[in-house]
Amino acid sequence: MATISFLGAAQEVTGSCHLLRASGIGRILLDCGLPQGGDAVERQGDEPFAFNPREIDAVILSHAHLDHSGCLPRLVHEGFHGPIFCTPATAELLGIMLGDAAGLYERDLERENLRRRRRGLEPMPPTYTRADVERVLQLCEPHEYEERFALSDSASVTFHDAGHILGSAIVEVVFNEQGREKVLVFSGDIGKRDRVLMNDPALLERADLVLMEGTYGNRDHRPLGDTLVQLEGLLKDAWRRGGNVVIPAFAVGRTQELLFYLGQLAQENRLDPWQVILDSPMAISITHVYDRWLKSLDCAGIKPLCAGHQTLLREFIPRLQLCVSTEDSMAINSIQRGAIIIAGSGMCTGGRIRHHFKQRIWDRRNMVIFVGFQARGTLGRALVDGAKRITLFGDEYIVSAGIETLGGFSAHAGQTELVDWISHFRTGPRVALVHGEPQALDGLADRLWREKKIRAEVPQKGESWVF
Ligand code: ZN
Repeated sequence: MATISFLGAAQEVTGSCHLLRASGIGRILLDCGLPQGGDAVERQGDEPFAFNPREIDAVILSHAHLDHSGCLPRLVHEGFHGPIFCTPATAELLGIMLGDAAGLYERDLERENLRRRRRGLEPMPPTYTRADVERVLQLCEPHEYEERFALSDSASVTFHDAGHILGSAIVEVVFNEQGREKVLVFSGDIGKRDRVLMNDPALLERADLVLMEGTYGNRDHRPLGDTLVQLEGLLKDAWRRGGNVVIPAFAVGRTQELLFYLGQLAQENRLDPWQVILDSPMAISITHVYDRWLKSLDCAGIKPLCAGHQTLLREFIPRLQLCVSTEDSMAINSIQRGAIIIAGSGMCTGGRIRHHFKQRIWDRRNMVIFVGFQARGTLGRALVDGAKRITLFGDEYIVSAGIETLGGFSAHAGQTELVDWISHFRTGPRVALVHGEPQALDGLADRLWREKKIRAEVPQKGESWVF
């Protein structure tokens, strides 16, 4: 008998983590992600693992985003020492992402402990250190897409391209149980079709159980063409107003996509002479990784890059400025107008974006453009929902800048694409909808039943299924 336990990303979009148990393969963790919201200390310290990390035999990691990978250092710190299977690009990205997260965590922990000392409380010990991050990277065992590799004597795993971010995978686990072959498919995050840079998500046909994400389960995105027109229009508008544009962007995926479109607009002479500033050491490192892997991406949509010597960071965008040091970042404050500032974090829970808000958000000439999903409880979500005042570093700021959202840039499949993806399975699998807020997953389940007679279930956190 095989059991799957939904330990995270059940009726929510962060903290992806599922535990697969079956005779012959042991205990396998699918993802080990970090919940979002709060600061890095709160995120790490929130909840103990629902299992003993020492008893986990292996981790299969769908992709490098922190909400899928961010608890790996703590897992190692608490005794996990098995292999972490992932694609080669994921392993490369993971080093940058976890390194960056460790820096944030150390800083937030120091601040928290200072606060505690002032109140006469004991300091909090770290839940992991940089040595644990190093250990995670050593445990990574990379496998290419479509390469079937052994998980145990009776089980194998294959990664398929999920088209979500560089290296993202749909995970297929095939194992034998009492002479019968069973297949579990874990979608990870499924990309949107026809996106620039990324290939379309792979279609699978066979499974007994499918765990499918439903971040956008209750809606479709605006068509990308409309979004590009909207982006061009917003930038024209902001240029006329004599302001600056601040874009909170996830370092992986969204930033590179955005850079591509800004470059494309510039190449077609449709961009005013903006100074494009990438103010994120992590996004810069990650864009270098994308530049190295350009040829493995979907070259059809990015011909100027795949054909010539240009890359996202080289000669494609005029007036592109990369800010690594804090001094460079602070120097941006003196720019009066004409800057597009791309900084993290994507949901504004930390990072340099909050400093740019402090400088810009109270000025009506400026504009904030959101290009990605904003989870509940984050500053980004509050702004998208129309907050008129926000608190930054203990001070209140009035939100006067224009707040805009570009829907079509999503790295996730919309409802229709999810329905289409699951409809390719020919074996009538049991379907669990994960990685979505309740109304998104319910909306998706409703449409699957109405149109396809597929009965999809929405498990609760902590629920276990035998299959
Ligand atoms: Zn993701």
